[in-house]
Amino acid sequence: MSSNEQMDFYLKTLSLSRIRESYLVESENAAKAKLSYQDFLYRLVESEVLSKIDRSINRNMKMSGFPMIRKIEEFDFSYQPKLDEKLIRELANLNFMNDAKNIIFLGPPGVGKTHLAVALGIKACLASKKVAFYSADSLTQLLATHEVAGSLKSIIETLTKVDLLIIDELGYIELSKKTATLFFQLIAKRYEKKSIIITSNKPFEEWGQIFVDEVVASAIIDRLLHHSYPFFINGKSYRMKNLLKN
Ligand code: ADP
Ligand code: MG
Repeated sequence: MSSNEQMDFYLKTLSLSRIRESYLVESENAAKAKLSYQDFLYRLVESEVLSKIDRSINRNMKMSGFPMIRKIEEFDFSYQPKLDEKLIRELANLNFMNDAKNIIFLGPPGVGKTHLAVALGIKACLASKKVAFYSADSLTQLLATHEVAGSLKSIIETLTKVDLLIIDELGYIELSKKTATLFFQLIAKRYEKKSIIITSNKPFEEWGQIFVDEVVASAIIDRLLHHSYPFFINGKSYRMKNLLKN
């Protein structure tokens, strides 16, 4: 084996894939730029670390199940002038997660509820937090399936470990009494421990219908709202933006 081949084998063995890709070019560049050995090594090691962080964030994002990729920076606050931009930007610093506070986005379709929920979720991923995004429908199906399989406890434990749970589109489908109770168990487990972001097209007064039972509904609302940032977004639908311009 030539020394290059040997080097390639060593770097592969150590899983230093970024260095493996770039060290030949980087060493030529370093020679040209007359870098010190120390600076050269520093650069190589730094590039490996950055690429590992990148990969881990990408993996984290993929695992989160976002239906779309949206950033806070892409949100046009001038389109929702009543929305507290300063508070949303503050929440993007993720301090709410340290205090296990919840965020609730209420409003009609198209006002950016999912956009904001995803954007905050992505911030959390970038901070290496574990995030899980579910539609309310798929989450309740997941709980119901595990309940039938006798593994409800373990799925609730798994979902309680997630740093940020995003539940999108609560209220599009009414739950059964059974699934409402399962949902309550999850909310109760995360209460004061881990944050939840919820989006819904239904105002709180109508949550009784979503959860069938007023008592379950108010128990859920109590826990979600106790330490929370509720936002009522009632501006125009962004989907209509171009239509309304004409
Ligand atoms: P909702 O969840 O409230 O129904 P979405 O978040 O899905 O609405 O928004 C619909 C589409 O419009 C998405 O592609 C979203 O990125 C975009 N959108 C909504 N509001 C804004 C906004 N204020 N600025 C930029 N894009 C927006
Ligand atoms: Mg939505």
